[in-house]
Amino acid sequence: MNKKYTFSIIDNDPLFTETLVGILTADGQTVYSGTMGTDIVHEIMTQSPDCIILGMTTPESDGLELLTHLRRIGGFNDAKVVAVLAQAASDLTRQDALAAGAAGSIIKPINTKTIVGDLKDIIEERIAFTFWGVHGTLTVPGRKTARYGGNTPCVSLQFPGNTLFIFDAGSGIKELSNHLLSEERMITKATILISHPHWDHINGLPFFVPLYPKGNSFDIYGPPNGSMSMGQSIAGQMDGVYFPINIKEFSAKVSFYDLGEEQFNIGAITIQTMFLNHPGQCLGYRLDYKGRSFCYVTDNELYPRSSRLYDESYVRKLEKFVADTDVLITDSSYMAEEYERKVGWGHSSVNRAVEMADRARVKKLYLFHHDLDQTDDDIDNKLAIAQTILEKRGSSTICIAPKEGETFDV
Ligand SMILES: [Zn+2]
Ligand SMILES: [Zn+2]
Repeated sequence: MNKKYTFSIIDNDPLFTETLVGILTADGQTVYSGTMGTDIVHEIMTQSPDCIILGMTTPESDGLELLTHLRRIGGFNDAKVVAVLAQAASDLTRQDALAAGAAGSIIKPINTKTIVGDLKDIIEERIAFTFWGVHGTLTVPGRKTARYGGNTPCVSLQFPGNTLFIFDAGSGIKELSNHLLSEERMITKATILISHPHWDHINGLPFFVPLYPKGNSFDIYGPPNGSMSMGQSIAGQMDGVYFPINIKEFSAKVSFYDLGEEQFNIGAITIQTMFLNHPGQCLGYRLDYKGRSFCYVTDNELYPRSSRLYDESYVRKLEKFVADTDVLITDSSYMAEEYERKVGWGHSSVNRAVEMADRARVKKLYLFHHDLDQTDDDIDNKLAIAQTILEKRGSSTICIAPKEGETFDV
């Protein structure tokens, strides 16, 4: 359904305003436009818009001051303010706008293909995530994996305000890269959260094209392993022996950060990490934003209760980490009988993953990191097993087996 909103565009750049009015009007939206001036506040009040698109870029107008004023006098609390920034605007300007109460930002020149959707996402405070690779361990292309896709882990998570997170850089990140290029979407900045540097979680990174142009900027977080930092693990796979192109070829500004178990904020998003039960150092991530939450927990081995390796305190800690989350994407590599032969490899059976999700009152559980030998039919079976277990437990958790390219809302 094409939802209808009222927009007020306040910008002193006539070409920008004219273009945007044209696009929004063609989509059936109600649009008012004006320039910065003394009467503009009164004008906006009369229009009672759902969205105020406010220029921050022209030298003669101070959108930030107007935004602060609008927020101070109130009456606009339901309207989402979108800051219009120049391509060259520093991130500080974007952060200033968000801090002053903007719900999001758009960058000039606007992408005429995606602008309407982008604005609606901001109005609706949409948080959406897309799977780009759902298999684990090894890329497994072919007929038997054509429905779910054969790529290794990569999930993107888009928050309002142009804030993009990418979880892991398995071969699926190439699909994400292709998608961004096909939409001509200017991603200039993203946060990449790496669970751990096993091949299937990092070896797609050199194929992520936005890392190459100058002007883009990426923050890559992940756990160090022994004396090897996250940056060194990434650089190591591109040292000329294992890959022909060196990490120095990235012309974007790429910053690496080592993470342990900690909590920090990026804008209004709180990020928590927890070490998972997996060979080497591996981190699970939990993101919380305005009462909504998203957990990415792979690779992770949950021992059966009967196992001598079973550790009640670890299970409790993990259940607390993912408690009541809206979304849990988690390692459910094996069927129960497959797991018997793979104890200690660092992955869980679907039975254990489902039990953990139910006990933690997870709202939606997404089965992830499928074993390399599993076909599409096997994944269908795995989902059916998960749903049966949940039904037997009288659980309210919903279980989904996502396919490559599928997008869901948080
Ligand atoms: Zn893996
Ligand atoms: Zn692993």
